Amino acid sequence: MTVLVINSGSSSIKYQLVDPESGEAIAVGLVEQIGEESSHIKHTYKGEKHEYDQPIADHGEGLRFVLDLFENIGPKLADAHIEAVGHRVVQGGNHFDGPALVTQEVRDLIEELAPLAPLHNPAHLRGIDVARELLDVPHVVVFDTAFFQSLPEEAARYALDREIADKYSIRRYGAHGTSHQFVAQAVADYVSRDDLKQIVLHLGNGASVSAVLNGKAVDTSMGLTPLEGLVMGTRTGDIDPAAIFHLSRVGGLSIDEIDNLFNKQSGLKGLAGVNDMRAVWSLAESGDAHAREALDIYVHRIVKYIGSYAAVMGGLDVIAFTAGIGENDDLLRAEVLERLAGFGLKLDAETNAVRGDEIRQISTDDSSVQVLVVPTNEELAIARQAMEVIGK
Ligand code: AMP
Repeated sequence: MTVLVINSGSSSIKYQLVDPESGEAIAVGLVEQIGEESSHIKHTYKGEKHEYDQPIADHGEGLRFVLDLFENIGPKLADAHIEAVGHRVVQGGNHFDGPALVTQEVRDLIEELAPLAPLHNPAHLRGIDVARELLDVPHVVVFDTAFFQSLPEEAARYALDREIADKYSIRRYGAHGTSHQFVAQAVADYVSRDDLKQIVLHLGNGASVSAVLNGKAVDTSMGLTPLEGLVMGTRTGDIDPAAIFHLSRVGGLSIDEIDNLFNKQSGLKGLAGVNDMRAVWSLAESGDAHAREALDIYVHRIVKYIGSYAAVMGGLDVIAFTAGIGENDDLLRAEVLERLAGFGLKLDAETNAVRGDEIRQISTDDSSVQVLVVPTNEELAIARQAMEVIGK
């Protein structure tokens, strides 16, 4: 029994064949640079990587190529017992507070939400359409925003003119919800308690933080789009929106130029010149002052959110670190926790230094807050939600 999980972007298709019970990723791959002169395809099965460079005109051709790879390299899909295809969708707006079976109506709603995620939703639809043509099993959509549909109005509504905000659907939708939900549930299972005040830090190239009270999200840092909140690889995170007026009026930049600047040229890249956290550390360690300052700004922003979310929940039981940086960067975790020492948080330096694929505690037993590292697995979460939707 397996689920094929598909994440299609504007010029890419990422996929994973997952066993939803054991959690095993049976085959993993991606097609990149679709529509360009040459596309890059990678398929990994039984630990062996198979790579190809050749033109792929569109998503249909890309997915057909992938299905041929399954047939020729394996595992053969006919033997893999695919129960469903799970599609990641970035923006579900106010229409979806959970996963949904793809029907014409669901498809139309995702299309209707395209103005809120112009780079993502149309690309997801392309992937969904060709996958439905080629794979005759139930298709399920899992939304990045769904977990945050539980946010109370006081956290979701911006203090913007009510009529304008509603007319243009401007509110906090959040993102990375599948990961935040998966991690929050893993934490509850690990500590055998559901009544928890948790802060989940998803620190990857994109980064977000959520406050989760008794299993429900009550606040999150990403907003109308994934631009708001923490410092990210190439995104500003929080910034005074008046910077946009200033850059337009005084700097003469167009809206598209400012969009590109804030989303693609800022964050760690804008501050230190590189967006990969490992590269930021190696610059900082070689004495680069801008890289060191980038780390300070990154940590400062995280600490600020932890303080505010603890206040919002009226206390704090657990902080969970996840994603590329959260799971692997022990130095960064140590810097965050050092700044919280005044609140009784105590790092266990020994367990913090250990690498692993398992959920683990990195605070001492007498720390005021339990601090955990929790490997996230969005594909598995999508596969399991897809199985739930089809009632298996
Ligand atoms: P993700 O988007 O979750 O894949 O995370 C990507 C980020 O994780 C990049 O900034 C990587 O530099 C960072 N990352 C991965 N491994 C490490 C590591 N060992 N130490 C620090 N950062 C890491």
